[in-house]
Amino acid sequence: MLAPRQLDLFGKARAVSPVAQPPRPVPVPVLVPVQPLVPEPVPAPAPRVPHVAVPPLPTRQQTLARARALATQIAAILGSEFKVLLTVHDNRSTMISFRRQPPLLKIRAHHMFLDAPPEVIRSIAEYAGQGKPAAGAALDDYIAHQQVLIRAFPRKPTALESRGECFDLQVLLEEINVAHFEGKVEARIGWGRQTGKRRRKSIRLGVYDHKAREIRLHPALDRPDVPRFFVEFIVFHEMLHQLFPSARDTGRHVHHPRAFRERERSFPKYDAAMAWERQHLQELLRR
Ligand SMILES: [Zn+2]
Repeated sequence: MLAPRQLDLFGKARAVSPVAQPPRPVPVPVLVPVQPLVPEPVPAPAPRVPHVAVPPLPTRQQTLARARALATQIAAILGSEFKVLLTVHDNRSTMISFRRQPPLLKIRAHHMFLDAPPEVIRSIAEYAGQGKPAAGAALDDYIAHQQVLIRAFPRKPTALESRGECFDLQVLLEEINVAHFEGKVEARIGWGRQTGKRRRKSIRLGVYDHKAREIRLHPALDRPDVPRFFVEFIVFHEMLHQLFPSARDTGRHVHHPRAFRERERSFPKYDAAMAWERQHLQELLRR
């Protein structure tokens, strides 16, 4: 986008930390975070299931309760031989790993195992606690099945809200599309999330995601003191990214190729927009 251009526009991914704190004492299994562990991974095989239903995301409370239940069931299968320490994670490369340190059995399992049916839980116990190869194969199958679900349902679904307090970006985009692009730009648009970070040194007012064909504007622009033509200019700029993808020029990645810049200057209030940005950048940085 325009001049200074580094800002985490959409905030940091708020990882829903899975099972994290040690719970109050429970009868048999103990549930505490264990890491790092030496993995004995079950590699992730290719998915073979064409379609699965997508459940809603569980809350942290629910995740904890289910993790406890899972640890209890594994411990029950293994009897008094082991004390089970289970950590649930979101790591996508190693779905399940364990370490036997009698009387401890430390298991790290992807959260997909929280939904596991009884026979899969038995497989976890047999694989991790007793080293049965057949149980490992059964876990492979379960993982393959579940991975389809994971892909179909990314952890951070991106809701795109175009209506802000002051500007409806969808309306602006459609108007600009007709006025400047013969309606040919196909993109979704919405406001980015406020990051809560105030002392920034630069701000990225807009961003275009080629893959998703998605434009997001910084919420600092959704204010009554920001002129409409300036918001339009940012939308216009991001739309241009679809028409003029960044190019490689003698090895360098050119985000705004010459044709892009020329077209950008065709915006009716180009000079006013550039001037407004210069004059108000400091205010925007504080928002
Ligand atoms: Zn740009």
